[in-house]
Amino acid sequence: MDDLMKEHARFANKASFSKTQDSMQQVLAALEKARADIVANPNGTPLHITKAKSGIKSSFDVANSNLKDVNSASKSYEKALNKVWKLPVDDDEEDALASQSYLINRAIAMHLLREGQFDVASTFFREANEASTINGHSGIKSPNPRTDKQELSWEIKSERLQAQFAEMYHILDELKNKQNLDPAITWATNHSEQLESRGSNLEFELCRLRFVSLFLGYDGNGNFEGDVDMDADDTGYPASVLRAATYAREAFAPFQDRYMADIHKLVGAMAYWQNMPDSPYADLFSPYAAWDDVCSSFTREFCSLLGLSPSSPLFIACTAGSIALPILSKVRSIMRTKRTEWTTQEELPVEIPLPPDYMFHSIFVCPVSKEQATDANPPKMMPCGHVICYESLKSISKNARFKCPYCPAESHPKEAKSVYL
Ligand SMILES: [Zn+2]
Repeated sequence: MDDLMKEHARFANKASFSKTQDSMQQVLAALEKARADIVANPNGTPLHITKAKSGIKSSFDVANSNLKDVNSASKSYEKALNKVWKLPVDDDEEDALASQSYLINRAIAMHLLREGQFDVASTFFREANEASTINGHSGIKSPNPRTDKQELSWEIKSERLQAQFAEMYHILDELKNKQNLDPAITWATNHSEQLESRGSNLEFELCRLRFVSLFLGYDGNGNFEGDVDMDADDTGYPASVLRAATYAREAFAPFQDRYMADIHKLVGAMAYWQNMPDSPYADLFSPYAAWDDVCSSFTREFCSLLGLSPSSPLFIACTAGSIALPILSKVRSIMRTKRTEWTTQEELPVEIPLPPDYMFHSIFVCPVSKEQATDANPPKMMPCGHVICYESLKSISKNARFKCPYCPAESHPKEAKSVYL
């Protein structure tokens, strides 16, 4: 990759046609001068032409050598690119997705919608469907609309998604760029029940951020109101602290049961209003990190209520794929030279070092058989709480009451529950 970056820098440096442009300007100037000279002194025409010719030739030489430089830099960049990206392509290799290009098209369209690229998405919809009528591919529609129930609703679904993501980006824009909490709080209040049932902290996080903003002298809608003006009632507190206290009394009430400890900290911290940065509560009142946190937890909750993951699956698949591909390609070439086959269906023969964010499936190894759980051999939990794989359960129990291999509890295999890790 380093070599590629170096070549890229070299290419960017060399790929300039400014010298060629200068030379061409000189050619034009030489021609114009020759024409003017000839008009002024027709008798000296052969001399003027010879003079112009030599000027033009040297300008062309400079231009040509510039072009050669650009050309050679482009060639070595191409070489470096191929070295990194070009994978051996086999004619006998089957492209598993060739007959299902509509799935790839949908993944791309979905990615564009969730990135908020609505114009690009609608152009993509149109062109993918136009291309399908020309070259026979399936565009964005399933080739078997009758068997694919989702198909009927796909267009309606994408329109609805567009409206939903437009709302999400509007709220995020207000949060990120205008520090305006109102639309996010309204949304969270409207979806309060669903958020609560997911165990989400979003509503409280938003209220807490408004409290902190008020305390720091903002009005919670991004406007700075100042914190130095003392209260008219002569309480000795700045108006901003009193505004935060009033807000806390109303807004924190519904959260008392769940967030008592946090509320105590926030309210207690008000005593440090004169020197908050040096107080033990300084972290709670740092506005910068809090806005980022609230934005990402808002995105996460919004997407999860739509039944979607917080980041685009296409982006994750491409990133994970580009990390895994060089390793898999190497494995394939080793297998080919050793003429071995990859026999285990459920497992890769090598470790792929993906970053922790990209681990979606926890791995369960059966303590009895020492085999990794699969879809066909899932983990099962017995009533005592111990977990073994389905195959082990079958062979130990022989379909009758049996004793757990790890504790004295007895149970029937029917009582075991599937575990989703
Ligand atoms: Zn047990």
